Amino acid sequence: MELVNTIMGKRQRKYRATYRERVAGWYNGWLHVMIIYLAGSIALYIYGANTVNVQWWEWLALPFGFVSYQTSEYILHMYVMHRPRKNVVLRALYIRHTLMHHQFFTKEEMRFADHKDWRVTFFPPFTMLGLTLLSIIPSLAAGIIISENVGWLLMAAFTASYMFYELIHFCCHIDDNWLIRNMPLINTARRHHTAHHDHQLMMSVNMGIGTALPDWMMGTSDLDRGFWGHLFNGYDESHVRPGLQKSFNAAGTRPVPNRQAAERN
Ligand SMILES: [Zn+2]
Ligand SMILES: [Zn+2]
Repeated sequence: MELVNTIMGKRQRKYRATYRERVAGWYNGWLHVMIIYLAGSIALYIYGANTVNVQWWEWLALPFGFVSYQTSEYILHMYVMHRPRKNVVLRALYIRHTLMHHQFFTKEEMRFADHKDWRVTFFPPFTMLGLTLLSIIPSLAAGIIISENVGWLLMAAFTASYMFYELIHFCCHIDDNWLIRNMPLINTARRHHTAHHDHQLMMSVNMGIGTALPDWMMGTSDLDRGFWGHLFNGYDESHVRPGLQKSFNAAGTRPVPNRQAAERN
């Protein structure tokens, strides 16, 4: 099944057809999402049930965990998912993201045709297990050094952040509608991520998916705005840096920091 009203080019249309041929016939996007969110909800319940008499300062583990996750996601996207590495796991992430996800969706056509296309956006269900294992290391350390509650809350923050990431990325690839157009954070993420799907910019611009803030901090955003502007920009294109695409070489691999690019224009 393919979208009818679309401006996608031949190459993208062909890639989408090829990708769909490779997806197993039994794949069901709804089941995929259910597994991720059911596993995540059970994990969150377990972490919550293990906290006892949480002190006010211990709650700070939640925003700290969220920011740490956003930063890690940005680094992974910037330095692994768009850069082929020798390590088998890291290379698989590159192939799945740059060579599949970015071919399936371009700035011309960002939408799924149906739930079977969700396969190219949601990480496989075992990602939750991998994330949990990775989360144990810093959470256990915090649990021993600071307090047990902080350890459990960190685990919860990492899991919830991953669920948040999947939700936002999913919303970036669904059809436009009144609700998401007016939903703060989601509308901002949609414009931000659509710009990232421009093949000329994808290697180094708008690498934050959950929020645009890491791009604002690192100077890799396509917007010339401050903190609040990056949080609540919505669909507004009036703050996009002019001539941004010219700042990149033909392969789109050489970023010029925004400030330099802006000065040049
Ligand atoms: Zn995407
Ligand atoms: Zn990307």
